[in-house]
Amino acid sequence: KESPLVVCFGEMLIDFVPTTSGLSLADAPAFKKAPGGAPANVAVGISRLGGSSAFIGKVGEDEFGYMLADILKQNNVNNEGMRFDPGARTALAFVTLRSDGEREFMFYRNPSADMLLQEDELDLDLIRKAKIFHYGSISLITEPCKSAHIAAARAAKDAGVVLSYDPNLRLPLWPSAENAREGILSIWETADIIKISEEEISFLTKGEDPYDDAVVRKLFHPNLKLLLVTEGADGCRYYTKEFNGRVQGFKVDAVDTTGAGDAFVAGILSQLASDLSLLQKEEQLRDALKFANVCGALTVTERGAIPALPTKEAVLEAMLKP
Ligand code: ADP
Repeated sequence: KESPLVVCFGEMLIDFVPTTSGLSLADAPAFKKAPGGAPANVAVGISRLGGSSAFIGKVGEDEFGYMLADILKQNNVNNEGMRFDPGARTALAFVTLRSDGEREFMFYRNPSADMLLQEDELDLDLIRKAKIFHYGSISLITEPCKSAHIAAARAAKDAGVVLSYDPNLRLPLWPSAENAREGILSIWETADIIKISEEEISFLTKGEDPYDDAVVRKLFHPNLKLLLVTEGADGCRYYTKEFNGRVQGFKVDAVDTTGAGDAFVAGILSQLASDLSLLQKEEQLRDALKFANVCGALTVTERGAIPALPTKEAVLEAMLKP
């Protein structure tokens, strides 16, 4: 059996989403379960695109944990590195987009199982054999998961695996903003590829202009091979040591933007996993990012993250449309 090319590390959880849109959490009459967690979304996204991926993380030995493991399996994501904690529960999030446009969150993390993954539970073999190791920053918030995260990334780096980082700021989960900034930047320089959003640039630079190339360049560390900035409907920007530019977004009617960033990451990583030389060739990289933009765009045309992640066929078909 071949080893998965992209191994994604971090949290997987259940999002409870109100069945009626535009309400505050307190007013929602009922909720629907939706699998979530950025690294897990990326793993499924890659698999939908025909790539091979694995997810490493911890869930509770409960109904939700088994449901999540099943979802990975149904989507052909290797879940051998997934662990079940008998004493802790699967992370849960209640998420709503209120009519005033603000997102409201409430979390069950008390602590949840994902935060309890330990270094000695890691499947290091799976990590070392990968081509790309992808992670976020939520797993850095508390111990023991923080140490597991650092050990996993170190094993990947030592084995010559490319490290991909999407800080995916979820401010309400961190003890404070300062804490979040420090935590996110603490592993900045170990990454080979970083994907951030405009809001994250402003947050990390304490309010500097995310559209200013000089500001973005300040976040570019000497060992970084690719820095990607996603800009919602506008598409993305890319920065390497040698070149930088923008790739326009793909026009769609947006229904729900959940998972767009993860679909975009899946889009670019699935291509890099089969050809890392894309990082050196601007024209090919632009084509790969065009594909990734379509992955993100198609995801916003449907509700939820995992259910909305497109297949390779769907992306190629959309790209053929005038
Ligand atoms: P995140 O979900 O991390 O905040 P974005 O919202 O910037 O990231 O979305 C990631 C990518 O998904 C964008 O770079 C773009 O390619 C695509 N995308 C997001 N929203 C839209 C949209 N409304 N229309 C078309 N493409 C979109």
